[in-house]
Amino acid sequence: MKVLVLNCGSSSLKYQLIDMDDESVIAKGLCERIGIEGSVLTHKPTGKDKFVQEEAMPSHKEAIQMVMAALTDAEHGVIKDTSEITAVGHRVVHGGMKITKSTLVNEEVKQMIRDCFDLGPLHNPANLMGIEACEAAMPGTPNVVVLDTSFGMDMPEKAYMYAIPHEYYEKYSIRRYGFHGTSHMFVSGEVIRFAGLDPEKARVIVCHLGNGASISASIGGKCVDSSMGLTPLEGLIMGTRSGDLDPAVVQFLCNKENMDVNECLNVLNKKSGVLGLSGGISSDFRDLEAARDEGNELAKTALDAYVYRVIKYIGAYTAAMNGVDAIAFTAGVGENDMGTRKQICEGLTYLGVKLDEEANNVRGESRIISAPDSKVKVVLYPTNEELAIARETVALVQ
Ligand code: AMP
Repeated sequence: MKVLVLNCGSSSLKYQLIDMDDESVIAKGLCERIGIEGSVLTHKPTGKDKFVQEEAMPSHKEAIQMVMAALTDAEHGVIKDTSEITAVGHRVVHGGMKITKSTLVNEEVKQMIRDCFDLGPLHNPANLMGIEACEAAMPGTPNVVVLDTSFGMDMPEKAYMYAIPHEYYEKYSIRRYGFHGTSHMFVSGEVIRFAGLDPEKARVIVCHLGNGASISASIGGKCVDSSMGLTPLEGLIMGTRSGDLDPAVVQFLCNKENMDVNECLNVLNKKSGVLGLSGGISSDFRDLEAARDEGNELAKTALDAYVYRVIKYIGAYTAAMNGVDAIAFTAGVGENDMGTRKQICEGLTYLGVKLDEEANNVRGESRIISAPDSKVKVVLYPTNEELAIARETVALVQ
């Protein structure tokens, strides 16, 4: 069975065609600058040369048509006909309280995605455009939505409620949702299997450390807490996002800098995190580490603050679960940055965490990186959100 996985952003569209018989990637690619001048499709068929096509894509509709043409092309295509695609799995960022788990698309589900536009204003409209473009390009092929928020729906009330007047939860569904849910679901499940833990009782902390960063606690694969909130701004320090912050900072900044709330939120989302902390050096850890190693104090502070926040959250989540059996690292920084993993583990020796430095000296591989006598298993596990979406899709169409 072949499943197409789509991740639509406001001006981009990422895709993967996966053969679910052996979970191999048949082709993947990216449409960039949709709706903007200079649209380009980059198509990478497995085992064949990359194909790049610069052509106007006024909307996601044209982008999907170009993806279909690339997939079925005589030269760089990988299938004869789009009828070979059994189903399409779509990443949808915010399901609010309306869509709580992966589901087949129908008119009602599309309306629910629309109803969540105000909760996910940057992503949900693009996600819906992708769905509608697929319906037009492949009538009759089932579409499935997989939510970034569904893993967090298992959180207990005490973890997801904000201590604000209850009427705002009732009126507007203001609560903590926890994003990167597909990644946390995938990695926590895989780590239980990979590290041979009890599938019912394993207490796992997943550190998804990428440009966006979040951390989750789960027991037996069910989320008990997750660091992102109503939006993906809460929690860890990220590439450009502040993470946790006294909300009064917003009022203070607005008054001092003569900004409105939207401008201030833009600063917190796009100009903060390690980028802001370092005085604007970079949001990329490779640049920051190079600057720190050359003696830049702000780069050092940014990296130390980042690591400190992760260590604090791991402590909090260990307390929330009354213990922890495994801690997993994933995403760009988590998978590639052995120095950051080491620094984090150095702050966890009180838990009996013992890193195997040689095993840690690796990038992007599934591997146990703790010493055999470590009380907590530390696991490096590359995330694969596309595969997770494809698996959910298969489960719903079979
Ligand atoms: P992601 O959002 O998961 O794609 O992660 C992207 C981030 O991973 C980049 O901004 C870098 O900060 C980080 N990253 C990628 N490769 C490395 C590396 N070799 N060493 C340190 N950080 C890395």
